[in-house]
Amino acid sequence: MNSPKLLEKRLAAQDPSVFASIQKEWTREEEGLELIASENYASRAVLEAQGSILTNKYAEGYPGKRYYGGCEFVDEVETLAIQRICQLFKVEAANVQPHSGSQANMAVYLALMAAGDSLVGMSLSHGGHLTHGSPANFSGKLFKVSSYGLNPETHRLDYDQIRDLVRREKPKVLVAGASAYPRIIDFETLGQIAKESGAHFVVDMAHIAGLVAAGLHPTPIPHATYTTSTTHKTLRGPRGGIILCSQERIKAVNSLIFPGIQGGPLMHVIAAKAVAFGEALTPEFVEYQKQVIANARSLAAELMNLGFKLVTDGTENHLMLVDLTATGDGSISGKDAENWLDQAGITVNKNTIPNEKRSPFVTSGIRIGVPAITTRGMREAEMKKVAQWIHQSIETRGDAEKLKKIRREVCDLCQSFPLYSKPE
Ligand SMILES: *Cc1c(COP(=O)(O)O)cnc(C)c1O
Repeated sequence: MNSPKLLEKRLAAQDPSVFASIQKEWTREEEGLELIASENYASRAVLEAQGSILTNKYAEGYPGKRYYGGCEFVDEVETLAIQRICQLFKVEAANVQPHSGSQANMAVYLALMAAGDSLVGMSLSHGGHLTHGSPANFSGKLFKVSSYGLNPETHRLDYDQIRDLVRREKPKVLVAGASAYPRIIDFETLGQIAKESGAHFVVDMAHIAGLVAAGLHPTPIPHATYTTSTTHKTLRGPRGGIILCSQERIKAVNSLIFPGIQGGPLMHVIAAKAVAFGEALTPEFVEYQKQVIANARSLAAELMNLGFKLVTDGTENHLMLVDLTATGDGSISGKDAENWLDQAGITVNKNTIPNEKRSPFVTSGIRIGVPAITTRGMREAEMKKVAQWIHQSIETRGDAEKLKKIRREVCDLCQSFPLYSKPE
């Protein structure tokens, strides 16, 4: 393959070590099947904006109210990003400065709660996120956390159970959203549950923001006090976070992002966010998200045809969870499967499943997502092949020669769906 045009000759000459690592990562991305549900490929325009000279500018504060001079052009960029994201999600106000989804959540929590206040969120082992109250995270250390999980039989959110928990705990905040949940989340019902008990409802739509933007998942905006998201998952922008809310709520969260928990904004990333939000406003983006859903359905159906058990027996969004306890004699762990698939050029992550018996470092499941392979143009016909390769890879039980053979086939398919090596 040709050398990526993205990489400047200058970098190669000045710093061959860093250049070589980027080059190898580029080959890995071009030649492998990326099935990590939280990843995607940003467009060249997004990469260009993110690689721009805007990285040089200090712009503490907000457009029109900065602590440094010379901000007239970065003000334009941040204003555009805000306007576009507000249009995309039909929301009054936005903060586009959070360096990540975690920072967005931290600012929102601190706007609504003091240390020691109570927070109800989805447990990490059932598909929630670290920032939803895990003891290992600031959210679990700073707040008094009660977690909800999935219904032990249906493996879906159990809204009656959540209502009981919220009534009992009377939290300041109920947070919804997930990193590994294959079904639609009923934000309207959760918003009512919060309201009934006088709690604020916070939605973290990090995984599904692209689907929400395209109208393919119900929007949380009318129901939530604050909605947060990452920008690099289904939304397909640069790595980062956003906060969305009403005009009256924006001030509190602005001052918590800066000067509360961050310093100078990453103006190059904010420029890249503006570009990505512009892309998300196009009809092509809606078509892309429709194909994401179609591909996820198709891959899920093919995997089930091949005998795999999926948590909740399918998917309504961009991801699915394979329950490996139902494969063979149940001895294959998520860690084994992740490792074997990796050798076949297929990247997934091990993931806990409902009623998990193994440790989070081993697990009994894998999480599979299609946003990245859909970006490179793959459709239902390719999903059939992907399912077969996943099946074959696991059948090898780690046979290196067989996995190498699958890897060559995977590479061939990937080369017919080029990413950044595609001529413009
Ligand atoms: C990915 C994710 C985040 C955090 O994103 P980072 O940018 O990695 O901090 C937060 N919440 C949910 C539900 C996520 O899936």
